[in-house]
Amino acid sequence: MSRKKAFKAESKRLLEMMINSIYTHKEIFIRELISNASDAMDKLYFKSLNENLGLDRGDFQIRLTPDKDARTLTITDNGIGMTAEELENNLGVIAQSGSLKFKEEVKGDEKAENNDDISVIGQFGVGFYSAFMVASKVTVRSKAYGADTAYLWTSEGVDGYTIEECEKDSHGTEITLYMKENTDDEDYDEFLTDYKLRNLVKKYSDYIRYPIKMEVTHRHPKEDAPEDAPEEEKYEVHTEDETLNSMIPLWKKNKSELKDEDYNNFYQEKFYDYTEPLAHIHSKTEGTATYSALMFIPKKAPYDYYSKEYEKGLQLYSNGVLIMDKCSDLLPDHFSFVKGLVDSEDLSLNISREMLQHDRQLKIIARSLERTIKNELKKMLTNEREKYEEFWKAFGLQIKFGIYNGYGMNKELLQDLLLFTSSKDKKQVTLEEYVAGMKEGQDCIYYASGDSIERIDALPVVESVKDKGYEILYLTDNVDEFCVQMMTDYNEKKFKSVQAGDLDLQTEEEKKEIKEKNEDSKELCDAIKEALGDKVAAVRLTNTLKTHPVCITSDGALSAQMEKVLNSMPTDHKAKADKALEINPNHPIFDKLQYLFDNDKEMLATYADLLFTQAMLIEGMAIDDPVKFSEELSKVMAK
Ligand code: ADP
Repeated sequence: MSRKKAFKAESKRLLEMMINSIYTHKEIFIRELISNASDAMDKLYFKSLNENLGLDRGDFQIRLTPDKDARTLTITDNGIGMTAEELENNLGVIAQSGSLKFKEEVKGDEKAENNDDISVIGQFGVGFYSAFMVASKVTVRSKAYGADTAYLWTSEGVDGYTIEECEKDSHGTEITLYMKENTDDEDYDEFLTDYKLRNLVKKYSDYIRYPIKMEVTHRHPKEDAPEDAPEEEKYEVHTEDETLNSMIPLWKKNKSELKDEDYNNFYQEKFYDYTEPLAHIHSKTEGTATYSALMFIPKKAPYDYYSKEYEKGLQLYSNGVLIMDKCSDLLPDHFSFVKGLVDSEDLSLNISREMLQHDRQLKIIARSLERTIKNELKKMLTNEREKYEEFWKAFGLQIKFGIYNGYGMNKELLQDLLLFTSSKDKKQVTLEEYVAGMKEGQDCIYYASGDSIERIDALPVVESVKDKGYEILYLTDNVDEFCVQMMTDYNEKKFKSVQAGDLDLQTEEEKKEIKEKNEDSKELCDAIKEALGDKVAAVRLTNTLKTHPVCITSDGALSAQMEKVLNSMPTDHKAKADKALEINPNHPIFDKLQYLFDNDKEMLATYADLLFTQAMLIEGMAIDDPVKFSEELSKVMAK
């Protein structure tokens, strides 16, 4: 007997979780093991294609062998098999990616934190270890293709495992599960019945492209058996090899045959998500490109979605055979959240990655998928608003980036998918809805940007625009203002920031009045401007303020908020908005300024600085020199 080895710490923890699992879907171990077997055969088949080994796809099969007396279930494949080293590395150490990421993912996710099992199982397809949910002992007998020696891996759980040489005639892997003892709540014998196994294969592994076979026993009543014959003699018993799965990939089936549950199961298994998808898109297209596509919109953004690590892409199949796992050319960045696959007869099996990039057919498919996804989202927006808002919460940011990054190229495609919170009812509205609710004579879409709705609402200008009866869109994400500026307009209605200097909402009379006041106070404004130096591009009086003494507006295309966003990015180049300090001539402070202008220029400079800093703070901007601010404030207070 070989020496027992310990599992790596990570694996041990996961294993413990599996052994003590209260997960209600323990049955998924079968799909995990079958999926591994299928992968192992894929690997060997590919090897055969590349190295001309001459293996026939038709020779591959998976076999389930339940043994009720021994209480074991054996799953056999004739795939690529494993060497001793591979047994050690693959089964002794859990896929590193999985466990580490799992910990980060779960942080902050209450549901998952309280439910270790589910998130691990669903998220990372812990695969092989799931066997320990139902088995107290597992053996893996495996012979790598082309090797002379076979090895037996044995484990009874967290204690560790052994690997020793063993007998095995042909290549492939044979996994035997020694079922746990039944308990009051769990009946593990169930997994040894033909009936249950057949159902589970149908449910989880029907589309597997290799036959999953099992010897099933049929019992027919004997017609001529005497009434009083012993029970076992009343039946004719014969066994028969049955293929349990249809082998038809889910996406090749007719939509009418499929239930939501089928799609959801498929998605969860294939894309390791423990939550069901928000929606699925199943389409078959013939014409310039012939393909079937099965796509899913996840409910939540994966933890790495908004990072560089995230890789977009769809699986690419050529007539049912996987040729690429993540074909990024099939998805535009703005729909990078979509998971799924495309199967096309038009693509050659041996096409290389480089060739694929230039493949005309692939480009046509990608364009068609883009439209399909857009239409599906639009449909959801129209018919299932709540669901769409859930989608928007998870992926809206990406759509907005899409408009911005595409330099407006994707505007037509994406603009009707946008949602912004509106000042009316604080609900999310589309641009179409905003425009439909515009006041008579209103020709701009008004927006205000800031860190949060509350902060925006507290802005002096926002108050006055709302008072005039205009609806305002709150732009609270960093990308928002960049996005609407990139669009410039929606159906010929221009986007207009209420924080811009040239907000033209006054009556002719009001305009005339403030113009005169500005002329009268030109010297004062110039003096304040001089005191502030290049912090501001202009200083002027305004009649848009009611209770506040001052505010900041932006004169150019770059707003103060955008300046803040740009400067928070790690570049040397600092952006600078053309800020204007606007003063309320009806506020008592104005008289004070006037007085200081005539009597105390030095104090006027201090006041100017304090007022500017105040206005910046109200806008949610950081102040350059808090120490100076505090000193000036003290100076004024001590006076
Ligand atoms: P995953 O399948 O997600 O990689 P698993 O824990 O299910 O994780 O399996 C770990 C590894 O063990 C697989 O990646 C594969 O290399 C190997 N393996 C598992 N089952 C088999 C099998 N039946 N035949 C060959 N290799 C296998």
